[in-house]
Amino acid sequence: MKSKCTKCGYESEDNLEKFRIPLCNICFRFCPNDEDKFKEYVNEKIDGAFLETFRKFSEVGNPQKKAMLNKASGGSIMSRPPFGYKLENGKLFPAQNFREVEEIFEEFLTTNISLTQLAKKHNFSVNGLKKILKNFTYIGKIKFNNQIHDGKHSPIISSTLFNHVQNKLERLGIK
Ligand SMILES: [Zn+2]
Repeated sequence: MKSKCTKCGYESEDNLEKFRIPLCNICFRFCPNDEDKFKEYVNEKIDGAFLETFRKFSEVGNPQKKAMLNKASGGSIMSRPPFGYKLENGKLFPAQNFREVEEIFEEFLTTNISLTQLAKKHNFSVNGLKKILKNFTYIGKIKFNNQIHDGKHSPIISSTLFNHVQNKLERLGIK
C-alpha cells in the first residue's frame, strides 16, 4: 500500500510513521523525537524534488547513501520555496513574480544602488536580499553543505547574470 509523506508529499510503500503521521524514509530519518519539534518539522513543508537526489542514493547497499544522508542532515535543504518560486505537488515552479528576481539581479549588477536601498525597494531585509543574490536555485541548481547539484526545476535567471552578480558580491566583500 502506498502512503503519502506528510512533509514532502512523496508517495512510497515505506509505510513509516511517527506520532501517527506518515513519512517517507528520508523525512523519517531526520525527524526529531520530541513531539512539539516533530510537529514543527512536519509543518515545514519541503519540496519533494529536493529530496530526489537522496532517494536516488537510498537503495540498499549503496555506499554513497550514508554520506548523502549525513550531508542532508545539516538542515540546509530548503524547506520553503525561494522568492520567485512556488511549490506545486511537491515540485518547484516559477511563481507569478519570478521576473522580479531577474530585475533584482540586474539592478544589483548594473547600478550602484546599495544593498540597503535595494532591499528596501523590494521589501526585503538586507540579509534576505543577500540570500536571494546568492541562491543557486535561480539557475536550476540545488546547494547544500557547499555542494552544488543539478535540480529538477527550471532556472529563472541566466548563469551568466548569476555569475556576474557573484563576482560583484565578492568584489564588494559582501558575505
Ligand atoms: Zn518525505
